[in-house]
Amino acid sequence: MHQPVGPPFSDTLVRRLREADRVAVLTGAGISAESGVPTFRDPDGLWQRFRPEELANVEAFLANPTLVQGWYAHRRALVEDVEPNAGHRALAALERWVTARGGDFLLATQNVDGLHARAGSERLVELHGSLLRSHCIDCAAEADESADARGPLTCQACGGLVRPDVVWFGEQLPEAAFAQAEQAAALADVYLSVGTSAVVYPAAGLPLLARQAGAYVAEVNPTPSDIAGRVSEQVRGTAGEVLPALVAALGGASGIRGQESGGNDG
Ligand code: NAD
Ligand code: ZN
Repeated sequence: MHQPVGPPFSDTLVRRLREADRVAVLTGAGISAESGVPTFRDPDGLWQRFRPEELANVEAFLANPTLVQGWYAHRRALVEDVEPNAGHRALAALERWVTARGGDFLLATQNVDGLHARAGSERLVELHGSLLRSHCIDCAAEADESADARGPLTCQACGGLVRPDVVWFGEQLPEAAFAQAEQAAALADVYLSVGTSAVVYPAAGLPLLARQAGAYVAEVNPTPSDIAGRVSEQVRGTAGEVLPALVAALGGASGIRGQESGGNDG
């Protein structure tokens, strides 16, 4: 006998989205996996002998700036070489669908890869900064990463070390960005947590804040995250499969097609 195969999410999620005035989303490395960007849990060839936590902190950087800059240069080259996937595009379409109806939308990402912006997301905050920018640790001048250097890359203005504009382990998140994400979570009617293992705080606290404040919280992840037991609904599947289907269920699929036929993806 044939079991009809339906979408991996509930009618409740679709109904709650249709009724929502405010929608907020948190994404993590998992949403970029289908673009070919490894998560911190996937092996990444060249760099397999290091744990990301051992490179992504200021002590490691000061101890071996060339090594850490090299890791970021590798990651930057990688993301410049890939394209946003259907999951990124679906979130941009969801934003257009919500805002076209006069609703509020915010996407807070833990990713540093710039793929959401390239997919057309506009109401976007980057909680952990961006791989695509760098600055001098002494004078804060923005630095040009394309400069090819032997030894550590240094500031053209003052000779200080150049670091990526990312938030390292042990560092504070950008205050304004996090405040915006918190407010969106506290006010959201529906909150989506996509492709995050939800182990890195404070970002992982956002879906929980939303839930406490009364939002319907759905997690989209092929495997349960650390907070899976505390969300309203667990949607098991990849971002690239689930999110386009969800947007299509809202009647927003044309937004995704519009994107492909010459929208604003960079
Ligand atoms: P994580 O690596 O801890 O977890 C990734 C999560 O994504 C896992 O729960 C996994 O089950 C899920 N996942 C894997 N494939 C998926 C798919 N196709 N669709 C949906 N989910 C999928 O990532 P994290 O929670 O973002 O935390 C790690 C930290 O690493 C973050 O702070 C982030 O800044 C950084 N990071 C960023 C990137 C990037 O910018 N692309 C890549 C690696 C790590
Ligand atoms: Zn400088």
